[in-house]
Amino acid sequence: MCAARAKSSSPTTPVAALDPAVAQKFRKSLKARYARYGRNLPWRETQDPYHCWISEIMLQQTTVVAVVPYFDRFLTRFPTVHELAAAEEAEVMRYWEGLGYYSRARNIHKAAKHVSAELNGAFPNLVDKLQELPGIGRYTAGAIRSFAFDLPAPIVEANTLRLYCRLLGFDGDPRAREGQNRLWSFAEELVPANQPGKFNQALMELGAVVCTPTNPKCSECPVSFACQAFVTGRQTEIPLPAVRPVVTAVTELSAIVRRAGQYLVYHRAHGERWAGLWDFPRFPLDESLVKALKRHPASLEKILAERLGIQIVAGDLLTEICHSVTRYRITLRAFQCEHLTGEISESVGEYRWLDADEVHALPLSVTGRKLAKLLK
Ligand code: SF4
Repeated sequence: MCAARAKSSSPTTPVAALDPAVAQKFRKSLKARYARYGRNLPWRETQDPYHCWISEIMLQQTTVVAVVPYFDRFLTRFPTVHELAAAEEAEVMRYWEGLGYYSRARNIHKAAKHVSAELNGAFPNLVDKLQELPGIGRYTAGAIRSFAFDLPAPIVEANTLRLYCRLLGFDGDPRAREGQNRLWSFAEELVPANQPGKFNQALMELGAVVCTPTNPKCSECPVSFACQAFVTGRQTEIPLPAVRPVVTAVTELSAIVRRAGQYLVYHRAHGERWAGLWDFPRFPLDESLVKALKRHPASLEKILAERLGIQIVAGDLLTEICHSVTRYRITLRAFQCEHLTGEISESVGEYRWLDADEVHALPLSVTGRKLAKLLK
């Protein structure tokens, strides 16, 4: 932390000791900047643990800009943990639709039921106890404890990870165990007993808007005096970037099957991608099926007979949607079809025939929603 006392760093020896005097100055400068420039975000206007928890879960892997409207809508519909616990999972999913990482919504619902029924609506303030709730990891537990209860707890998330690495001049792998241990102990050393919630918010804010992934604004940084990367001119080399997964291109098929003014939809099961959401029947296609479908759209009839046990008449290509899911770049080809005969066995999954309005009322996958909009 103290640039003057820092050893020269290497991937295996990156650590500088925390100098109490510099740490004191660091906290003061950081808080002063936050008081002056900190952004007004809806979840910063409250210390309600329920609100803090919802915002922290929504912010996992998701940008502030994307979260703000979801946060407001979600809390308008579910203003207390008891109301969230009493809701149907489908409705919770509907309010989460489009935010992605849907296991977050299912875990939120499970945790709300536990807090409502077993804890009388009161969130614990201990990191260990918070981590017992579904979907709450070490960072989220520390955030709730510090933001909602103003009790000291270290935090390490994407913005603070980058910030700590630069402050320490840590050029090892911050995601590996050794790096994680180092960063968490650094966070623990940093967090003060006085106003730890504001301090942690200020750290995250600095990481988000000043110590940015590319082109950090070091000339505006209130803690550059304590930054090893700045002193050594290595801001752009630190932290070590995460290894990017190789992107794989795949093609999938979606069948918009109609029967007497209704459409076939299915409930994505536990363990599947987008579990809990509804969708039109959708299948991955191997290379031979992609080719077959391009040459003879009627081969769709065979695919549905084999996969769902129903006879259909294949219609036109309705649309093609390109989108990404984790490391897959997916081309989704959606075809219209008319149902002829056959019922789908329950063993294949939870399928229903619904009219367009009923389909619209379901929590749908993002591509399912796009297709549903084409029904009208
Ligand atoms: Fe980040 Fe630059 Fe500040 Fe260091 S001086 S913490 S690299 S913004």
